[in-house]
Amino acid sequence: MNQQQFENFTASSLYCDKCKTAMPVRERLLLVLPDREIFDYLCTECGSSVGRREVTTGEKMLAQAMSGRRQRRSAVLR
Ligand SMILES: [Zn+2]
Repeated sequence: MNQQQFENFTASSLYCDKCKTAMPVRERLLLVLPDREIFDYLCTECGSSVGRREVTTGEKMLAQAMSGRRQRRSAVLR
């Protein structure tokens, strides 16, 4: 999986193993660490965790500082 793309991806529905189909999800703040926040995506039907997203503090600040401009701390392999 391409981590960079996944971080930009705002999920509204994801495939759920239990429901056997793509289901609407809700985002839940799972964990706050000194340098990142981890969000859990839960199926709205059965409550299963169907995905996870990490947002680093650096990325959040970067996104706020230059909204719309695509720039990353880490180099992207070509
Ligand atoms: Zn489900």
